[in-house]
Amino acid sequence: MHNETPIVRRQSKRIYVGNVPIGDGAPIAVQSMTNTRTTDVDATVQQIESLQRVGVDIVRVSVPTMDAAEAFKLIKQRVSVPLVADIHFDYRIALQVAEYGVDCLRINPGNIGREDRIRAVVDCARDKNIPIRIGINGGSLEKDIQEKYGEPTAEALVESALRHVEILDRMNFDNFKVSVKASDVFLAVQSYRLLAKQIVQPLHLGITEAGGARSGSVKSAIGLGMLLAEGIGDTLRISLAADPIEEVKVGFDILKALRIRSRGINFIACPTCSRQEFDVIGTVNALEQRLEDILTPMDVSIIGCVVNGPGEALVSDIGVTGGHNKSGYYENGERQKERFDNDNMIDQLEAKIRARASVLDKS
Ligand code: SF4
Repeated sequence: MHNETPIVRRQSKRIYVGNVPIGDGAPIAVQSMTNTRTTDVDATVQQIESLQRVGVDIVRVSVPTMDAAEAFKLIKQRVSVPLVADIHFDYRIALQVAEYGVDCLRINPGNIGREDRIRAVVDCARDKNIPIRIGINGGSLEKDIQEKYGEPTAEALVESALRHVEILDRMNFDNFKVSVKASDVFLAVQSYRLLAKQIVQPLHLGITEAGGARSGSVKSAIGLGMLLAEGIGDTLRISLAADPIEEVKVGFDILKALRIRSRGINFIACPTCSRQEFDVIGTVNALEQRLEDILTPMDVSIIGCVVNGPGEALVSDIGVTGGHNKSGYYENGERQKERFDNDNMIDQLEAKIRARASVLDKS
């Protein structure tokens, strides 16, 4: 029920990764990456399916060898979400996965080597309408750029990116997106800001090697939040040393917080204090788990007492305001006659949220 986001997105060119639109105002796509062995087809398919269950839009799979390329063929046949193949430099692997239906190639043209090999990959991508992602990482800049700048700077990352862009420009290929990731928030943010002014292609955002689940999520939320608030970014990945499912959840939470893309429930809950009339924290934790399957965007406020409860409930799809033994219940911003027993709060709220989600889905 909250207003639309005030963010004005940067104008960018539209590309497609499989059937997922990227850029030119398309919803910001949330990506993740498998961390299974790609040659273990069953494990990789299972992980992709679990990422799909939490709403991932695009999944990247690393394809370091020809054996992995053969496994990629089998994986691709078994999943429906678009797949990006991560290839370091071996042009033969790129050509092979293109045959097997890859939806995007993550390869830096300047790393492929000989001109005829670069051209083979670019021509193949053009023929099959496969986009390329150029990915620059502050930790692996070209030697001469490292020497020129002394340390990874935003200018260094952008110069590296533009080298690869120029190769594609020369070959008249504009179906690509670019990332300039760094593990330092300020370096990443500044690099994306500079790059955003220099090219029209979509930008894939990420703070690389951000860290563990909590610290990495905070770092990513700050870095990506700054960029997204400025309208920069068309796709994103949260890189966590954690289960990739967390990456997807955090990615959606960041978009939800900025009201850029709503998916699932946006919980509004008070931090609790001695005034609380029911167990707010236990209720929110239980409902977050129980309602993971709800994809309908909706605001649910769970507030422990009347200090802030009514104000939040008035702007929520579902709201509850703690009262003595029984709590006030709001739907669509309107106070209802019905009140909830404080000791049965979780079941009652779950039922109401599910019912409201199906009403919103039909409207
Ligand atoms: Fe405490 Fe009420 Fe504020 Fe929650 S809303 S933190 S219970 S005063």
